Amino acid sequence: MTQADLFRKAFFPHVSTAEWRDWRWQLANRLTTAEQISRILTLTKDEQNALQQANVFPTAITPYYASLLERSPLRKTMLPSTMEKTLSVGETDDPLGEEPCMVATGLVHRYPDRVLFLTTEYCSAYCRYCTRSRLVGRHAANCSGNGLKQRWRAAFEYIRAHKEVRDVLVSGGDPLTMSDELLDYLLASLRAIKHVEMIRIGSKVPAVLPMRITPALMKVIRRHHPVYFSLHFTHPDEMTPETVRACERIANAGIPSGSQTVLLQGINDDAETLKGLMHALLKARVRPYYLFQCDPIAGSMHFRVPVAKGIELINALRGHTSGYAVPTYAIDIPGGGGKIIINDQRCVGRDGDFLLLKNFENNIYRYPDPLTDQK
Ligand SMILES: *Cc1c(COP(=O)(O)O)cnc(C)c1O
Repeated sequence: MTQADLFRKAFFPHVSTAEWRDWRWQLANRLTTAEQISRILTLTKDEQNALQQANVFPTAITPYYASLLERSPLRKTMLPSTMEKTLSVGETDDPLGEEPCMVATGLVHRYPDRVLFLTTEYCSAYCRYCTRSRLVGRHAANCSGNGLKQRWRAAFEYIRAHKEVRDVLVSGGDPLTMSDELLDYLLASLRAIKHVEMIRIGSKVPAVLPMRITPALMKVIRRHHPVYFSLHFTHPDEMTPETVRACERIANAGIPSGSQTVLLQGINDDAETLKGLMHALLKARVRPYYLFQCDPIAGSMHFRVPVAKGIELINALRGHTSGYAVPTYAIDIPGGGGKIIINDQRCVGRDGDFLLLKNFENNIYRYPDPLTDQK
C-alpha cells in the first residue's frame, strides 16, 4: 500500500480504487475550500483565514497530491497564506512580460527559433508562486474543446507563416489536463506544419495527477514524435511510486523529459533536498533541466531565495555529483529579458599565457591559453 492508498482509506473511504485512479475523478474532486481541506489537513489560523477568501486566494489541490502534504514542506506550495497580499518591490502580475510578446492569442514569440504556446488556462493544482496566476485560477473548469480549437487557430496560422519556428513549447495552464482527443488534434495540427521540428509539452501532471499518464495517452503522444516533456518538480516527497511509474511510462514511450524546479524558501533551498530530488528524478529517467529563481509574481516574496544562496546551492551540486544531476540555474528576467543563466565565476584571472580556473573544491588550476598565436 502506498501513502496515497492509506490516505484514501482514511479520508475517502467510499471511493473505490478505480475511481481514485481515474484522473477525471481526481479533477472533479479537487479540494478548493477551507471546509474540504480542513477535513484532511490540520490548518493554521493563517491558512484558514486565507482559504476563507476564495476569490482572493484561489486554491485547488488534487486529492492525490493532498495525500502528500500533511508533513511535507510541499504544503506551503499549495495552501494559501495571507502573505500573498503583500506586494514587494519589483513584483507584478506579469513578471515575465509575456503580454507584450504575444503574437497571437496565447502565443509568445520571444526567442528567434521557438515559441511558447499557452494552450489552456486550466491547471489541476494551483502553485502559490505560479508565474501565470494572472491566467490560471480564474478558470475553475476547462474551456470546451471547440472553444480551444477556435482560439488556437490564429496561433497555428502564425507558426505556419513563420518558417523560423522549429520548436513549439506547449504550455498553459497544464496541457495534459486536456482530453486525449484534444491533445491529438493539437499535436497533429502542429505536426502538419513542416518546419516544426520538435514539440515540447510543459506539465506538472506527473507530480500532481500521475494517473493521467495512461497507456492511451502515451499512444497518442508517440504518434507525434519527436515530443519532449518539460516537467515541473519541487521536492523529493513528490517521487512516490505513482509518480515514478508515470515517469517510467513517459520514458518507455520514447519521450525524453527534463525537469524544471523553482527554488523556494523553506521548501527546497538546501543542498541535500535538491540533491535528493535530482537523484530521484534521474532514477526515474527524468533529466534535471532548469533550476529557476522564483519569478517576482505579486505576493511571492516569502518564497524567494537570495541569488547568492542559489549560486551556493548549485556549487554544492556541480562536481559533487553526476553532471546529469545538475540543472542550469536561471533567472527569467522581468520585462521580457528572457532567461539568463547564473553561474559562479570559475575563470578567476590570468597568468601570462595561462588561464587561472577554480575547480569544484575551490583549488586554482592553470590552463594553457596563449594570448598570442604561437603556432
Ligand atoms: C522558457 C521559454 C522558452 C524555452 O526556453 P528554453 O531555454 O529553450 O527551454 C521559449 N519561449 C519563452 C517565452 C520562454 O519563456
